Amino acid sequence: MAETIFSKIIRKEMPADIVYEDDRMLAFRDITPQAPTHILIIPKEEIATANDITPEHDELIGAMVRTAATIAEREGIAGDGYRLVINCNGHGGQAVHHLHLHLLGGRPMTWPPG
Ligand code: 5GP
Repeated sequence: MAETIFSKIIRKEMPADIVYEDDRMLAFRDITPQAPTHILIIPKEEIATANDITPEHDELIGAMVRTAATIAEREGIAGDGYRLVINCNGHGGQAVHHLHLHLLGGRPMTWPPG
């Protein structure tokens, strides 16, 4: 896959407000927040879209969701609730083709999404 801006953030060549990092993933605040808390959780492995997730990634994806829940707890939004979103390709509204999980919270979310 073509490299994205997120690869530069992983390599610390681009600044980001990083809130969590381990050997497999990174989480940082979205540069254009859509909610009081808006954090992106990304795998360090370059996976372009949700369509490119394979069974080998099952443990990684589970860990990403658990990490999002841990960050939500740390951010103080777990009790009130939050939304986890993965956008995929054009109709999904995906702008950056490096898989990422949006953690959105700090205000009530509407449903259905636009
Ligand atoms: P997508 O639309 O692909 O699901 O979400 C991409 C997200 O990445 C957007 O919410 C956008 O604001 C965020 N984003 C794009 N470029 C940067 C950047 O350079 N730094 C940070 N922190 N977020 C970015």
